[in-house]
Amino acid sequence: MKELIFRVQTSNEHPHYVVTVCKAEKNLTVHCTCENGGPHTLCKHRLSILAGKAKWVISENVTDVEQVRSWVAWTDVGQAINKVTQAQKKIKEAEKDRDKALERLKAATEEADAAREALIQAMND
Ligand SMILES: [Zn+2]
Repeated sequence: MKELIFRVQTSNEHPHYVVTVCKAEKNLTVHCTCENGGPHTLCKHRLSILAGKAKWVISENVTDVEQVRSWVAWTDVGQAINKVTQAQKKIKEAEKDRDKALERLKAATEEADAAREALIQAMND
């Protein structure tokens, strides 16, 4: 069994959380000491490390995140993590599309308001 332990930063009173990644053959287990780090939950720290991102890692073994990424590729966690990151990407794209649509909606509404005002003006001249 191989094991990697990362300290990750927090935004609260805790000094840090600890993410533990264990690999035994094709089985990968990942735990985090944060409030969402137990079974049946998914925290951003584990998700980030499994995706090969060192964003929250503050321990000196930060480059070991790459090792985790290669472990993940050979387990069922790999496909699942890909689906999650793809879905998150879709959310971000959809949010951008929404923001652009809202800008167009605002501009079109302003244009319609101005045109209505001009029509009212023209009818009363
Ligand atoms: Zn966590």
